[in-house]
Order: sequence, then C-alpha cells, then structure tokens
Amino acid sequence: MEEERAAGGAVERALTVFLSGAECPFTCSFCDLWRWTIDGPTPVGALPMQLELVLADLPARVADRLKLYNASNFFDRRAVPLEDLPRIAELAQPFGTVTVESHAGMIGPVVCDFAELLSGRLEVAVGLETIHPVAAAQLNKRLDLDRFDSAAAFLAEHDIDLRVFVLLGAPHVPAAESVDWTVRTVEYAAAHGAGRVAIIPVRGGNGELERLQAQGAFTPPTLAQLECALEQSLALAPAVVTADVWDLDRLPACDQCRADRVSRIKHLNLSRPSRPEPAVRCSACA
Ligand code: SF4
Ligand SMILES: [Zn+2]
Repeated sequence: MEEERAAGGAVERALTVFLSGAECPFTCSFCDLWRWTIDGPTPVGALPMQLELVLADLPARVADRLKLYNASNFFDRRAVPLEDLPRIAELAQPFGTVTVESHAGMIGPVVCDFAELLSGRLEVAVGLETIHPVAAAQLNKRLDLDRFDSAAAFLAEHDIDLRVFVLLGAPHVPAAESVDWTVRTVEYAAAHGAGRVAIIPVRGGNGELERLQAQGAFTPPTLAQLECALEQSLALAPAVVTADVWDLDRLPACDQCRADRVSRIKHLNLSRPSRPEPAVRCSACA
C-alpha cells in the first residue's frame, strides 16, 4: 500500500499486487524482474487466483487504485492469457483506477478491450527509460521514440491514462549528465501525454549492471541525484512527477543527511509543486 499524489493535488491510496507469470521477452540491461517469473507461459487461471488470494485478506475498498504488476507486459498474451482478462476486471471492480505495465510495442487493440471490461479507468505504465540517443539504443529495450510516441498517441486517442517510467542513472549516460537526461526524459514524457511520471533510480544487482560498471558504462545513481532530478522535474505540470522510493536505502548517500533527504523526497512526492519543501542543509556534503 502506498500513497500517491493525484493530478488535482489530492492524495490517493494505491495497492500494488505483484503477480507471478511468464517472463518478459525483452532483456533490458537494467532489469531484474525475470527473478519473479516462471518458466513457460502463464497458466490460464493463475493470475486471477493470485489476485483473489491477495484481495481476500483485505477490506473491500482498501485503495483507490489497483496496480497489477506482473514483472512482464500485461498485454503479452503469453504473460496474461486473454481468457483471464474478464475475471481480472471483475476482481478489480472496487477500484477507481487500474494500472498495468506494458512495453510500448505491445500496446494495441487488446488494451482497449481490457479498458472496456473495467468498471473504472485504465492506466498503462510504459517504460520510456531515457531519451539519451546512445543509451537508449544500448538498453536492449528495442524501443525507439517513434514507437513510444505512437503508443502514447494511441492511449490518448482511446482515453486511457499513461504513466511513464524514467530512469535515473541509465547505463551509457555519463554520470555528470545523469540528472539532466532524466529531467529531459521526464519533460518528453509529459509533453507526450503522460499524466504521471515516476523516476526510477537504476539499482545494481542483476549481474549485467555490474559488468557494465566494470567497463565504466554504468555509475550507480546517488540519493542526492534522485532528489535533484525530482526537484527539477516538479515544475513540469500538469504531469504528476514522483521519485520511486522503493529500496532507497540501497542508493549511495552521505551518512549525515541520508535520512533528511529520504524524508524530503517522500514529502516532495506527496506535496503540491507550488509548495516547495525547504532544501536539506548538510555540512558534510554541501
Ligand atoms: S521490457 Fe520491462 S520487464 Fe521486460 S526486460 Fe525490459 S524493463 Fe524488464
Ligand atoms: Zn550530507
């Protein structure tokens, strides 16, 4: 359960359910989601059963938003069998909005079919990652900007919300330009219709990032860079821009001000950009 700022400034409750199913066919260099997948296609009925089990333990109106994250692409029928969509939509009935993740290349008519099954709104979360031309080509994501643009336009045309994931510290982006490219990518996403943009600091640990780090092609982003990228992106109204706060303790940071910066990032995520949070003052790293 998390709290999230909505476009109008209200704070809504979001429930994220992690579903296990088939692995994603892409192999992005920064991704470790394959650890939470199974060999072979997702069996029919497996995802509704997982969702039923989670929801059974929770009050009926536990959250405004339901995020269904399946460590792959929701609109890949190998990961989410088409036969399961009606039951998933039925289980999602108490929620005002449902968010699912998908590679831009898998966005098409099936997204509209699922949106029609839902009683609330559908939001599709798409990883744009970075618009740095060299880095984007090296991510193994097989996503070019034209593909992203057409997916964003398709969603807008069908009145489906778009959330975009943007990386901080993408491999092959020079560390000194990292914040700048993140802010530019947030700006690009907002200009192409993203209502929400989440900045995700790249976290090592999948083996490939360590290999790239040894070659000098990846520098782990810091907590201070995340704070800076978020602060600079907040002016990009009307998109709601937030920093991903999962595993923040893994980011390199100054020991003296780490807790204050984490607290400020969490406040910035929830407060209106028109009410700036005072900057952290630290004698050790200023
Ligand atoms: S498309 Fe998404 S889930 Fe698939 S490898 Fe890339 S980041 Fe991971
Ligand atoms: Zn400090």
